[in-house]
This record gives sequence, C-alpha cells and structure tokens, in this order.
Amino acid sequence: MIIFTDLDGTLLNHWDYSYRNALPALKRIRSMRIPLVMCTSKTRREVELIQRTMGLAEPFIVENGGGIFFPSSYRGFRIEESMGVRGAKCIPLGIPYGRIRAFMKRAGARYSIRGFGDMTEDEVAELTGLPSESAASAMVREFTEPFIIDDEEQLPDLEKAAYAAGIKITRGGRFYHLIGRGNDKGEAVKHVTAIFERNRKTSTVIVGLGDSRNDLPMLEQVDIPILIPHPDGRYEKVNLPGLIHAPFPGSRGWNDALMTVLDRYEKAHSSACKFTELHRFEKRSSAWDRRLFAKRQKHAPAIDSNPSRA
Ligand SMILES: [Mg+2]
Repeated sequence: MIIFTDLDGTLLNHWDYSYRNALPALKRIRSMRIPLVMCTSKTRREVELIQRTMGLAEPFIVENGGGIFFPSSYRGFRIEESMGVRGAKCIPLGIPYGRIRAFMKRAGARYSIRGFGDMTEDEVAELTGLPSESAASAMVREFTEPFIIDDEEQLPDLEKAAYAAGIKITRGGRFYHLIGRGNDKGEAVKHVTAIFERNRKTSTVIVGLGDSRNDLPMLEQVDIPILIPHPDGRYEKVNLPGLIHAPFPGSRGWNDALMTVLDRYEKAHSSACKFTELHRFEKRSSAWDRRLFAKRQKHAPAIDSNPSRA
C-alpha cells in the first residue's frame, strides 16, 4: 500500500493546521512501514519542516504536482530521471517559477491579481494564518504561484491569457494557483506510483486523501479515494467509483477514514497468505484488496458514504 495525502484541510486542520487527531493513524502507518506521500500545494521547505516535526522521511510532491522529491537513499530505490539537490532526489515536472512570475507581472495589473511574490511576509502570514516564519517558507517557491483576485468574474479571461502562456489555474483551499499547463497532483501521483512499482517490481494498492478541487486529479489516480469534508461539513463535488466520504473535516476525518481502510487492509493481508515470498505476497494481497473493497463498498459501506448527511 502507498498513501498519498493532501495537507491543508486534509491531514492538517483548515484553521489551526493541527494534525493531533491523526496521530493514531500516523503511528499505525509508520509501524506498518507504509509510505505516506504528502501531495500538496505547499513548497519543498514547508513540507520538509512538517516531515521533520512528524519524524518522517518519505517522498513528497510539492506545489500541486510541480515537483517530486525523494530522500537520497530512500529504500534503496533507483530513480534515473531524478537530479540530486541538497540531500534529495528531485524530479521537476512543472515550469520554473521565474516564468510564472513573468506572466504574473504582465497580467497582474490587468486582472487585479496579486501573488505571493507581490506580497510581504506579513501579508502572506495574515492571508494563510501561518506564523511569519512558516509564511517565509511558503514564499520560497519553485514551480507555482498562489494568488488572490479582486473580481472572480475575470477568472475566465485570465484563464485564457494564462493558457496562451503555457499556464493554467487551479483552486486550493485558500488560493488560486498558477501552474504549468501539464501539471497537476494526478500526474505527479502517477509518476511516484510508477517509481515505486518499478523499484518493487510489483503493483500495490494506492490510497489518496484530499478535500479540494485541486485534489481531484489525485483522487482519480488512486484505487481507494477518500474525500475529506470542508470545515463546514460540505463535500467537494466528486463522482468516483468507491469514493469514501470521511466522516469529519481535517485530521479527525483523516484518522477515522484511514483507520477503517487499514483495518480492512490488515484483515485482507493476514488471510491472503502467511509464508510466501514478498513478491507473491504483495501481488496476491493487492488483488485481494481490490476485490474486497469493491464488494464492501457495494454492499455495506463501513463508514458514512452519504454526502447529503452534512
Ligand atoms: Mg486541501
């Protein structure tokens, strides 16, 4: 199993950025040695800080799929397409920040948009609710630019202008983001999954958790998509087979939904086979999981899968 997760509003609460309620599931994931791949609009520096706080050293996807980072000697993996940068292997997928800023400068006045590159640390801190030290980390960008717009009715025109410059707009929990046209969380998840499968020589069950529109491409790529509600209990409109609706927003919903998934996964694993070599074990158990989940989802969803509840 590999778990991909969004951070803001998903593993981290929307308002206080706390992950305290997710500690039981985090502990269990670690003891099961399941890779937890953060897939976020945050920057490399922000994710590194969060990983350090959580005591994790896992691959991660930054800036909405703009780039992938693997720890240098992660599980003995060979990643030919990566380049070494400061203690990590990087696979840049997005277009460089400089090109996005150049577009911002051209379009900024016309569409009344302002990006992080136009703001002071204090402004970013205020808009994000982050302490100013973390705001500084959010401003060290490599692939994308979060922005605010005065008049949302201008978005379609801005979108057209961006498209012509090889850029598109995606929406996160707090900001719009300018990002390379070919980039999204889904493409990055596909890439990371391929690296795992290539190195392990087997396929595995992929879980994904997210709360916002920019998470949809990620949820579409995984076997077990989990949707976290917004702080007001509302769910993003998503129509995916087998979609699990987490029962609570933020870290509490993250924890509860994953605990249920891990229960089922462990059950399937323990009965799948006992003493086979790793390759066959993984292969059989992933086929098992898929069948098990398809069946359970159809007949008796173990956790609330009715979005109208909220
Ligand atoms: Mg989010």
